[in-house]
Amino acid sequence: MRIALTGGIGSGKSLVAGLLAEHGAAIIDTDAIAHRLTAAGGEAIAAIVDAFGAGFIDRRGALDRARMRARVFADAAAKTTLERILHPMIRAAAEREAMAAQAAPYLVFAVPLLVESADWRGRFDRVLLVDCPIVLQIERVLRTRALARAQVESIVARQASRADRLAAADDVIVNAGALTSIAARVARLHRRYMRLTAQSL
Ligand code: ADP
Repeated sequence: MRIALTGGIGSGKSLVAGLLAEHGAAIIDTDAIAHRLTAAGGEAIAAIVDAFGAGFIDRRGALDRARMRARVFADAAAKTTLERILHPMIRAAAEREAMAAQAAPYLVFAVPLLVESADWRGRFDRVLLVDCPIVLQIERVLRTRALARAQVESIVARQASRADRLAAADDVIVNAGALTSIAARVARLHRRYMRLTAQSL
């Protein structure tokens, strides 16, 4: 069974992924894959230089994230170009990780922008959404990342709405309470996934 794990920034996706991993799920983290592809020596660097020029690569040979972020915010065509380079590479690497994880009872693909990205649709058996009120998302991101409130608010505003995400979800974990209550919810969800996996065998 292939499950997509999604949710807005700061919703608690990493937290839920970590808890599911403790239960034995294989986690395939598409953000981590994207970072690897664009790190120094990464598979995507040559294509990024071809499309955007060497000015978007930093001194160590990695993608200059801040510069590229500014570029794609300002220019929709640049965003499409970058996505055309990265998305197929991310999907191929994710499938390689999935092949290597066949012994796990089920696979969880963490895809933050699942609802925003048509490329991913139809590739999963279920969509698991981590949902929480926007005020909590913003509060958590401000606590853990070096971003200004206005930046976080603008990221949240550009992401899919809670309603759009809820419409795409088969399973929802509401992460608005204490960490202990999330662990109990994830344990219940894991049992559901194990039942579904057994039924589909
Ligand atoms: P995401 O991966 O969706 O961006 P994270 O799982 O990294 O979100 O969570 C963002 C931050 O908020 C982390 O520091 C995490 O430990 C914290 N956090 C998540 N859920 C809760 C919660 N229910 N109570 C308190 N802190 C939380």
